[in-house]
Amino acid sequence: MTIRTGAEYIAHLKNTPREVWLKGVRVNDVTEHPALKGPIAQIAKIYDMQHEAATRDILTRDHEGVRTPVSFIPPRSQADLEARREAFQIVADATFGLMGRSPDFLNTSLMALAQAPEVFARGGVQYGENIVRYYEYIRENDLFLTHALLAPQTDRTRPSSQQKEEFLHMGVVRETEEGLIMRGARMLATLAPVADELLVYNAPGLKPGDERYCTVFAIPIDSPGLRLITREPFDDGTRNSFDHPLSSNFEEADSLLVFDDVLVPWDRVFVHNNVELSNALYIDSNLRQHTGHQTGVRGLTKMEFITGIAMKLSETVKIDQFQHVQQKLGEAIAATEICRALVLASESNPEIDENGVVRPDLRALQTLRMHLSASYPKIAELLQTLGAGGYLMMPSAEDFLSPISGDIEKYLQGAGGLPAEERVRLYKLAWDLCGDGFGQRTLQYERYYAGDPVRLLAANYMAYDKTRAYGLVDRALELSGTPAEAVAAKRGTVLETAGV
Ligand SMILES: Cc1cc2nc3c(=O)[nH]c(=O)nc-3n(C[C@H](O)[C@H](O)[C@H](O)COP(=O)(O)OP(=O)(O)OC[C@H]3O[C@@H](n4cnc5c(N)ncnc54)[C@H](O)[C@@H]3O)c2cc1C
Repeated sequence: MTIRTGAEYIAHLKNTPREVWLKGVRVNDVTEHPALKGPIAQIAKIYDMQHEAATRDILTRDHEGVRTPVSFIPPRSQADLEARREAFQIVADATFGLMGRSPDFLNTSLMALAQAPEVFARGGVQYGENIVRYYEYIRENDLFLTHALLAPQTDRTRPSSQQKEEFLHMGVVRETEEGLIMRGARMLATLAPVADELLVYNAPGLKPGDERYCTVFAIPIDSPGLRLITREPFDDGTRNSFDHPLSSNFEEADSLLVFDDVLVPWDRVFVHNNVELSNALYIDSNLRQHTGHQTGVRGLTKMEFITGIAMKLSETVKIDQFQHVQQKLGEAIAATEICRALVLASESNPEIDENGVVRPDLRALQTLRMHLSASYPKIAELLQTLGAGGYLMMPSAEDFLSPISGDIEKYLQGAGGLPAEERVRLYKLAWDLCGDGFGQRTLQYERYYAGDPVRLLAANYMAYDKTRAYGLVDRALELSGTPAEAVAAKRGTVLETAGV
């Protein structure tokens, strides 16, 4: 069993050249590319934390006699859920909640899938065995996964099987003795250029006829024919940490994936030719409970972070003295504390599945998913309004070192003589998070990481257990009686009151 260090992670990246395209150029060695060095350093730091005295015993634990990263360990008690939360929080804190797809996210996904081999075995006993073996392989080598759940946005009114071309959306071209040959595109694999492996499963919603598009599988990211087209980076390596403290560190390199006849070996196929099973996987495997726990803890850290910036920034020029600012900051705090309450609620009301795995409460986690997608953008907008025009007149780091530094020290100071450097540093941090392209991406992430919030909320309405709410309403309706009863009863009361 390997518990990776950052150096081992980077060495593996170097030894597995993958086909990454960035700004029209093929990247030879991702570890040397200036736009990818930031995320690689952050992921390496997370792996190193598995060995550091302060964090080792929270991020790794004994599992069946072997020290194992906690995110891979299936929880068997409420205490295990709490231990998982502590581990998630350490990782989230290290990146201020900004790296949504840190290794613990997909470690958790794979753990959840592998705890439900019987679901995969519905398609054939070998598929249940494959998912368990794959999970053990990833766990034992502590590898880093990315994932791609969706077909690209070509025509969203049509299923994959009815797009303009047969392989716009990734699908099976043919079966061979070795495995399946995949062709077409998938979105949107965050951190793919710096991952070791790719896991492909599907958001529910595939239609009959989509059989060739419903495959669930995993492949090494350096598989021949797999092309990663990475979006334009926010930091191409030229940004300094004073002007862009976040985007110079926490870029997540989202990528479109193109499968150019990629071989998926049979032992890495988990669902094949079975639309119904592919659609059922998300719900039947308890994936959404376990991932919702990790994403909820990470989201809470990000809410605490952005609310903290909003409060501190308000103090710099004393706008925190105005009541409407206090009210809005109070709302941001309430939205943040709702996240904390929902994480804790999910742990305090767990369920045990048929395999003895304890899963956090779904209702709390689904609510948290929907709450985050709505409340984070609101706080980001609040932060924009708190800094207002101030953000757009912040000088750069170089100005502090130039002949006009005196002007900067004088005119950019804050209330109570707060030095300009401190004020500018905070405004730069805030703008990186709420205004810059990097900040817009992190906002878009919160809106969509759990899927389209429109359909998420609609599905929540459709699936909601309405028994108790309807019970209350029905009881209140009984208070009314029929119009005749109500009028007669009132008349009696009036007559009695009048002494008639
Ligand atoms: C920063 C970021 C990182 C991400 N990282 C990953 C990742 O690592 N792996 C991964 O797999 N995915 C990732 N995603 C993708 C994410 O899962 C999707 O963005 C999300 O599921 C929404 O799907 P979509 O973007 O295709 O939007 P669409 O589904 O195309 O929706 C676009 C708009 O059209 C509307 N719409 C479309 N279809 C329908 C319909 N049938 N009914 C009603 N309304 C509809 C939606 O409401 C929405 O307003 C990431 C997304 C972002 C923004």
